[in-house]
Amino acid sequence: MPITVVGSIAYDSVSTPFGERQRMLGGAAVHFALAASFFEEVRVVGPVGEDFGETELDVLRNRGVDISDVERIPGGKTFFWRGKYGWDLNSRETLDTQLGVFEGFQPKLSEGSRASEVLFLANIQPDLQRDVRAQLPHAKFVALDSMNLWIEAARDSLLKAIAECDCLILNDSELRQLTGKASLYAAAREILSWDGGPRVIVAKQGEYGAALVTAEGFFSLPAFPLESVLDPTGAGDTFAGGFVGYIAAHIDEEISDELLRQAMAHGTALASFNVEEFGTQRIETLAGADIVARVRQLREFTQFSAAPVPHGE
Ligand code: AMP
Repeated sequence: MPITVVGSIAYDSVSTPFGERQRMLGGAAVHFALAASFFEEVRVVGPVGEDFGETELDVLRNRGVDISDVERIPGGKTFFWRGKYGWDLNSRETLDTQLGVFEGFQPKLSEGSRASEVLFLANIQPDLQRDVRAQLPHAKFVALDSMNLWIEAARDSLLKAIAECDCLILNDSELRQLTGKASLYAAAREILSWDGGPRVIVAKQGEYGAALVTAEGFFSLPAFPLESVLDPTGAGDTFAGGFVGYIAAHIDEEISDELLRQAMAHGTALASFNVEEFGTQRIETLAGADIVARVRQLREFTQFSAAPVPHGE
């Protein structure tokens, strides 16, 4: 079943200990769409400025992403983000965020985007996420991502947006910030107890992987071990693309914990490719067979047998 996504479509300038790039194609919706396109058709909703190039749109077109709802705003400037990473690639400094065309953007979804049964509200102002959510009232599975900026600047809207979703995907520090709970598990359980709130919580933990909490259970996967990581930007959105993409491909089945675990494995595999190169570079050249091989390897890495051993009395 096709997936609709709204979120930032951006130019990113990124510096890591391994290099620097200026104005690369980026944005939460872009990273998500490229990853999810390995599973289902993706329809991207969002504005770009006059400065946005055809070459960048081609990256999405080449993966079969539907860009009919990418609106070019005359005289507008594309969302811009600048970030810097130190040796600890788990933490980054945001040096600049320019909302540009997202300021005052009013999404008008085409019939196609409104017909999707799966919706991903990628990181952007929560009011905009709610606006798009309201245009897909019958979606079967709705997931949402956000970040510290919106938890601080738009908390009330964000809480309303979260209440309208099935699944919340946040970084561990954001889950703590949102709930005021130190334990990640307690934070997730608290959100699960909110009235009408999400029934699936995914905590992204950067290079430590991701954890899944539902009313029925808990599951966790490490990040896929890599010897070289060049640029972690977009890893979270690429994870979400693999995770939500896998669910969309199985939307006619029951969304059981077993299905969610498989989705976690696919999100983890996709995210691991993303960080091997700057920006969208690695995912642009990825093949489906690469994903299958990495999921298989991840399974081998994380399996153990629980054969009983004698314990001293
Ligand atoms: P991630 O590394 O998965 O958390 O996401 C990185 C992407 O998020 C970058 O490509 C940025 O363009 C985008 N981004 C950064 N800050 C914001 C923001 N305040 N709102 C929306 N998108 C953002």
